[in-house]
Amino acid sequence: MPAEHHGPDHRIYLIRKDFHAAVKTDEPTLYCHRAESPDGGFHLITDGEIYLFSDDVCYCLNCAVAAAIATVERPNLMRGNRMAPNPVSETPTL
Ligand SMILES: [Zn+2]
Repeated sequence: MPAEHHGPDHRIYLIRKDFHAAVKTDEPTLYCHRAESPDGGFHLITDGEIYLFSDDVCYCLNCAVAAAIATVERPNLMRGNRMAPNPVSETPTL
């Protein structure tokens, strides 16, 4: 059966190249570094969660997007150098 592909787009693009993506394991306790969040204080990054880090600073994906470390916008659209979605191949002259 064909896979349905109409769900929300979960792709995240890294803006800050000094950050890296990782998956939280059960070893250290990690807290998201964005303390000024409206819900208040550092929040826990849970096991299995994908997060971004640079040195000892960690952000969950939601806060990384809010802090402009990552984005949900496709990079080629952000930079404005748009390519045609379907480039027209030149028809060979006969
Ligand atoms: Zn967070």
